[in-house]
Amino acid sequence: MSDLQAPNPLTRYDAARRALAEVHRFDELKNLRDKAVAMQAYAKQAKDTALITHATEIRMRAERRAGELLREMAERKERDTGKGNRNPALKSQAATPKLADLGVSKSQSSRWQQLAALDQDRFEAKVGTASKHAYDRMTQKVLRESKIERAKALSNEQPLDKNNLITLVTHTGRQVEYPLPKGKATFNRTNQQVDWAAHTWNPVTGCLHGCRYCYAREMAEMRETYRAAYPVGFTPLFHHERLDAPANTEVPKEARCDPRLKRVFVCSMADLYGKWVPTEWIEKVHASCIANPQWDYLFLTKFPKRYTELQLPSTAWIGTSIDQQSRVKYAEEAFRNTKGVRVKWLSLEPLLAPLQFSDLSMFDWIVIGSQSATVQPDGPVKEFAPPFEWVARIVAQARDGGCKVYLKPNLLGGNPNPQSPGMQLPQEDPEEEIADAAARARREGRAS
Ligand code: SF4
Repeated sequence: MSDLQAPNPLTRYDAARRALAEVHRFDELKNLRDKAVAMQAYAKQAKDTALITHATEIRMRAERRAGELLREMAERKERDTGKGNRNPALKSQAATPKLADLGVSKSQSSRWQQLAALDQDRFEAKVGTASKHAYDRMTQKVLRESKIERAKALSNEQPLDKNNLITLVTHTGRQVEYPLPKGKATFNRTNQQVDWAAHTWNPVTGCLHGCRYCYAREMAEMRETYRAAYPVGFTPLFHHERLDAPANTEVPKEARCDPRLKRVFVCSMADLYGKWVPTEWIEKVHASCIANPQWDYLFLTKFPKRYTELQLPSTAWIGTSIDQQSRVKYAEEAFRNTKGVRVKWLSLEPLLAPLQFSDLSMFDWIVIGSQSATVQPDGPVKEFAPPFEWVARIVAQARDGGCKVYLKPNLLGGNPNPQSPGMQLPQEDPEEEIADAAARARREGRAS
C-alpha cells in the first residue's frame, strides 16, 4: 500500500506534499489537489489548526501547477478550448479532452490559471495569507467551541459532595475545596510528550511564568476533560494529599533493565521553584523524595537559583529550562554552584533563539526540541522549529563539555510529526560556492 492510500490522513498528507514536487501529468495533479481538499476537510473535523494550514498550502500549490498545465495543454492544442483549436494530429474528438473530461469546471480553470499567472513572490504572499486566514478561522472556531463547552459544563455541573471534600490552598493562601481522592495517591504514567521518564507526579500545579507555548496551561485551562482536576485553572495550588505518592507507588521490576521506569517528572504541570511558591511546599516535596530514594526525581525550573538555597534529594535530576538568552547567565551560575545531585540537565524545549553559553560543562544532559502548536486562553500559538544551525552549535558545544544530548523527535517535520514544521536544514549546493567564487574573481579582476 502506498502512503497515498494509507488509512492515516496525516500520512496521506505528508505523501501528497512529497508527490507534488514530482508530479507532471494532469490527472495525477488533479488527484493530489483533490486529496488536499479532503485533507482540509479532515483537518477541520479534527480541529487540527496546524494541519489545516499545511493542507491549504498544498491545495494552492497543486492548483497553481494545474493552472500551468491547463495553459500549456491549450497552447499545445492538447485540450479542446471550444475555439476550434483541436489538434489535427489527434484523430478523434475524444482524444482532445475538454475541461469537463478532465474533471475541471470553467471557474476552477479560470481561477487556477490566474494563480499560475502570478509571479512567484505574489503567489507566495497569497499562500501565506490564505494559510494564515485558514489557521485563524479554525483556531477562532476552536476557541468559540471551547467557550461554549465550558459554559455548558458549568450549567450541568454536579454540586460537590460536601462530605467528601478536602481543602487545598493556593500560593496566596486562598482555600479551595477539592474532591477527596478515592484511593492512595500514586504516580501517573507519562504521555508521549515526555519520553525520558515513565511517571509524573504533581504535588503542586499551576505556574505564573506565562510562557505562551505552555502545553500545561492549555490542559489546565482549555481542555474540558481536565476541568475538575484544575478547579482554579493554572493558579498555583498545593496538593498535600499527593505527598505520599512516592511511598505508595512500586518501582516496576523492569526498571532494572529500563531506567526510564524509575524516573518521575516532578511537577510537570507547574514550576515548583517559581518565586511565588512558598518554601514550605518545596521542603515538603523534597522531604517525600528524600524518604523514598528508590525513585529518580526529575525537576525543571526557570528559577534555578532556588536549587542553591535548599537541601536537594540525592536522587534528583535538577533541570533548568531556557527559552531566552537572558536566562543563560543565571542558569550557568546556579548550576556551577549546585552539587550532590544525580544529574544536572538543561531543557531547550522549545529552542526559540540562537542561545550562546560560556560552556556546557556544568550540565550532564541537554534536551532540545521544537515548539508545538497550542491554544492558549488569549489565542492560538503556532508551532516553531529552530534552524539546524542553532541546534548544531549547541550539540558541538555539548560534545566539548562532555555533556549527553537528547534531540526530541519533534525537531523533524512530516512523519511522525505532521504538526511540526521541522528544522530548517541547510540545503546548500557546492556549485553555488563555485559561482560565488567566479563572481568574486570577476569583480576583483575588474577592480585591479
Ligand atoms: S514555566 Fe513551564 S509550566 Fe510555567 S508557564 Fe512556562 S512552560 Fe508553563
